[in-house]
Amino acid sequence: MVEELKQKGITDAAVLNAMGEVPRHWFIDTALDAYAYDDRALKIGCEQTISHPSTVAMQTQLLTVASGMKVLEIGTGSGYQTAILCRMGARVYTVERQKGLFDKTSALLRQLGYRAKCFLGDGYQGLKEVDYGPYDRIIVTCGAPEIPAPLMAQLKTGGVMVIPLGEDEQKMLRIEKGGERPDQWKVEQFGTYSFVPMLDGRNFS
Ligand code: SAH
Repeated sequence: MVEELKQKGITDAAVLNAMGEVPRHWFIDTALDAYAYDDRALKIGCEQTISHPSTVAMQTQLLTVASGMKVLEIGTGSGYQTAILCRMGARVYTVERQKGLFDKTSALLRQLGYRAKCFLGDGYQGLKEVDYGPYDRIIVTCGAPEIPAPLMAQLKTGGVMVIPLGEDEQKMLRIEKGGERPDQWKVEQFGTYSFVPMLDGRNFS
């Protein structure tokens, strides 16, 4: 899998190391074990998917994470991306909207020894009620209809957010927050992706 990631343009050694060390099959159903190291998304229940390994690698590379950084992840899902960030030494806060996945994945991460703090809630809002911010890095792993203002507010000045933006398909954005005003944000675009949608109050049950 790591060789394939290199061929697909992943060059960051810390990312490649973490992806070589965290077993992806821990985060999927055993019935799908045969596909665990293929570059494809897989079903994880609750109509959600674990992202392609190349997508996880690309988002993590764009995030430019260093050990000790406080990272907020929106969309815990299977917990695989969470585990990669933990493996890289980040202090991870992760939010999931679906109770079924939150229950299952927070227990799994604990059992595997990853010390991420898991929350159930609407990640569009970030972690407003329980404020651990501001964060050095924010990673969104569901397709966002717009750049969520609450997330930009919880990002440190000088911090970076990686977010797939769009409804049917998404452009991967890397946003560097130079200041509070949007005209101080440096926005770069990296390829087109297909994520499950960010759920809001209307399409969530
Ligand atoms: N990082 C995950 C990706 C899972 S797919 C992994 O590697 O497995 C995206 C996840 O985002 C789904 O679990 C979905 O339930 C969750 N999600 C969607 N909208 C959300 C929201 N508003 N807040 C938090 N999580 C959300």
